[in-house]
This record gives sequence, structure tokens and C-alpha cells, in this order.
Amino acid sequence: MSADAEEELQGILSQVHAQCAADTRGEVASYIPELSLASPDDFGLALATVSGRIFTAGETETPFTIQSVSKAFTYCLANELLGPDEVMRHVGVEPSGDAFNSIEFDPTTARPFNPMVNAGAITVAGLLYSELGEGAFDFILERFSRAAGRTLDMDDAVYRSECETGHRNRAIAHLLKGTGVLGGPVDEVVDLYFRQCSIRVTAADLAWMSVTLANLGVQPRTDDTVFDLMAVRDTQSVMYSCGMYNYSGNWGFRVGIPAKSGVGGGLAGVVNRQLGVAAYSPRLDAKGNTVRGVAAFELLAEELGLHAFCCTKLGSSIVERFLR
Ligand code: GLN
Repeated sequence: MSADAEEELQGILSQVHAQCAADTRGEVASYIPELSLASPDDFGLALATVSGRIFTAGETETPFTIQSVSKAFTYCLANELLGPDEVMRHVGVEPSGDAFNSIEFDPTTARPFNPMVNAGAITVAGLLYSELGEGAFDFILERFSRAAGRTLDMDDAVYRSECETGHRNRAIAHLLKGTGVLGGPVDEVVDLYFRQCSIRVTAADLAWMSVTLANLGVQPRTDDTVFDLMAVRDTQSVMYSCGMYNYSGNWGFRVGIPAKSGVGGGLAGVVNRQLGVAAYSPRLDAKGNTVRGVAAFELLAEELGLHAFCCTKLGSSIVERFLR
């Protein structure tokens, strides 16, 4: 990348950061005490390229828990281990239009609508547990770490609180068990789900994890093949249609980037074959998406022509402009 292109990309990122930092709408998640301790003003934006570079603005090294962003990546791993047909037998790919923790299942199949809402992600955790048993969490953590390009860990306090307060998730798991959709023992599967949500990341980590998907499963800085190629395609598809809970339709229309958000304030986006984009800002909107993260993605998509169906000349030309 030429020095001019680097400067231009950094300039756009910094400017979008400054613009969105002024937005103080939304509330930090407070369903467990640990999340409410997050500094509401923290705000980081990170953009990693398939050529192995990263650009950052603001708090991109501040740790937070990955929460629902993990759902995209565990879905990818389940597809690799069990194959898409077996995964599809347990969880669909249809946007639910309901809140992330809703207790709604497909009326004809009893499957959760998709893997990006809690019911679907718990089902995916059941698949991973059935396949890997007690080793499932270490497997997840190791793959997430390789995608991030560094060793990640779990936030014990968040994990304990999730366990103590996660009655709704436990109820969802029991319902899924009752209809035969959930594999594995309920307590162990829910425990795995709480653990995966409690993995600690930074915005920079999420950018690397996302660009690993964008780069067809290969971490571009370490050259490590972390995810299966076909599973990456399936994951991006579901991120596109379902990744932002009941804002997914609007998101696909306005931003047009496969993405996944979490109540910790993280947001990860995949610009196929080009970029991983990530935001961290803990103030959430009513749907559980980071307010500044959503705003920043809208601006970046516009400025950089990132929408999947962008019809200006700029669209899809990030590779030419910045990455070569
Ligand atoms: N741990 C949270 C839960 O299961 C994750 C939800 C989220 O990030 N939307 O409720």
C-alpha cells in the first residue's frame, strides 16, 4: 500500500471516529454488574486488511467480552466439524425479526430460526459439545485466538455472572432439549455458551478475526488457515441476513456488510476478500446493538464504498485503492 493510500485510509477512519464520538445515545448493558462497569465513553474503531495491515482509532486495545459476536464464529466451527447439512438439521438460516433472546422457534421444524440469536447459538453450542465434549471450550478459544493472532482468555467474573443470571438462556436450552433439537446435556451446553460469550477481546482482535473470514479463512498476518473455506461462506451469508438481531434488514439495506454485534459493545464486519472492520462502544440501542458502532459502519460503508451492492465506481474497489 502506498504511503498516500495509508494516510487516506487512516484519515477516513479517524474522521469517522471523531464524528461518531459525539454521539452519547444508548445505555451500557446492565443485566450483569460486570458489564455495567464498562466506561460508556470508550470508543474504538479498527480496520484490518487482507494484506495484513491494521488501522485503528480510539480505544482499540481495551478488553471487553465478545458476547454474541462469538455466535458467528462458533457457527463457522460447527459447519466445519459437522458439515452444513447436519448443522441445518438443528438450526435454520431465516431472520427471526425477534429480539436476540426471544423464545420463538420455527413452527414446522421446532428449530431456532438462525444461529445468530440466543436459541440458535445455544443449539450450535450443543452441536460443538456433542462433537467435542469437555474439550469444546478449549477448541473454540484456540480457534478464536488463532483468528485474532494472539492468545485470548475468558473473563471469569463475567462468566460467573452469566451463569448466575442466565435463567432465560437455560429455559431456552430446556425447551430445545424437550423438542429434541438440542444435542448434549443442557447444563454443560449452556455452560459452554456462557463461556464463549465471556471470551475477552479488543476491537483490534475483532478486526483480525473478521478479516480472517474476509480472507477466506486465512489469518492474513500469520498466514495461518483458521477456518474452513465453505464454512466461511455460510457464516458470512448468515451474518448478512441475521447478524444484527431484529435490525438485520435495516443493516443489510443501509450498511450492506455481513456483521455481528454483541451486548458487550463489540461489532465485527466482514468485507469479503478485502477487510475486517470492528467497533467497540458499550452504549447500546434498544435492540442491543452498539450505537456508535452502527453509526460508524454506516459512515465507513458510505465513504469507502463497502456496501455489498454498492453501485458507485468506488464500490468493491478498496482492494485496488488501498490494499495493493
Ligand atoms: N450473554 C448474552 C446472552 O446470552 C449475549 C447476548 C448478546 O450479546 N446479545 O444474553
